[in-house]
Amino acid sequence: MDLQLKATPGIVKDYVDLFINRRAYTLQSMKPHPETGRHYYFRPKREGTDEPVMLTAETIRKHLEGSLTVGLYAINPSSQRCKWVAIDADYKNAMEDLLKLQYQLLQDKVEPALEMSKRGGHLWIFLATPLRAKDCRIYIYNLALALGVPVKGAGLVDGIEVFPKHDELDPGSFGNAIRGPLGIHRGASRRFWFYGADYTLAAQMEYLKRLRKVTEEEMSQFVAGKELPLGLARRQQGAAPEAPYERRSGRPEFRILDHVGKVRKAGRNYVGQCPSCAASGGDQAGDNLAILIADPRFYQCWAGCTKQMIRAALGRPIQVRQPA
Ligand SMILES: [Zn+2]
Repeated sequence: MDLQLKATPGIVKDYVDLFINRRAYTLQSMKPHPETGRHYYFRPKREGTDEPVMLTAETIRKHLEGSLTVGLYAINPSSQRCKWVAIDADYKNAMEDLLKLQYQLLQDKVEPALEMSKRGGHLWIFLATPLRAKDCRIYIYNLALALGVPVKGAGLVDGIEVFPKHDELDPGSFGNAIRGPLGIHRGASRRFWFYGADYTLAAQMEYLKRLRKVTEEEMSQFVAGKELPLGLARRQQGAAPEAPYERRSGRPEFRILDHVGKVRKAGRNYVGQCPSCAASGGDQAGDNLAILIADPRFYQCWAGCTKQMIRAALGRPIQVRQPA
């Protein structure tokens, strides 16, 4: 074996400290799927049983040395916290958006690590102690919105994805796994390194250990007074009951879906043309407006039009109640 790719016990321990937050994991299939050609991830079971296999230092060693590839879960459901946040971007211009985010994170004195991927990259942020998944998501999504970086699932097909992908997990659920860094991507048959250090396991781990880690106090300052942007709140299983969409008063309720023409479904939202953008010649692609499927009273324009502007553009301005 190439000595530069030897995972010593020290490297394995550092890796566990940085990345492993729970012992459930996924394995990337060594063989491509016969029809799609993709290497899917699955949760390994003990042979002939339904009993899940748990992550061990030995599995991590094999991952780092390249004989298997693991996927890691972000959230530990017993605390709803995570040790890291990974921003996945794999669309056209993805790298440009990751660099924008990286620059902005540095302004907050957060030192992210940029990992290459098959298309685009992953930006990793490490935490001094496990922090609430929901706070991590609030921080990153608000940063992305402020920078105009597209967010997948917010009515857009292409955009960044944030791991953890959920605010909370119900007991017995796992959330979504992401390929463990420094492992071999089976589809690409290669290892993707972090940009910040030489391409050896030892140098890469030293680099990651040196990066500043976000503290709980810093995170609470980052998210003070902030919420998750509309339509991005996610809890796995036992999902929130659907809010009723019904008339609440004597006058007929305004229904955005009656006014916006053709929409399509994208994740939790309907997506269509923003009337306010369209009125000024914008949103020719017809995907700026996201309308929450579960409760269409909630809608948002990703170019920043306010509800007032959208209603005015439809000739149905929001009525201001006159004092009695
Ligand atoms: Zn708009």
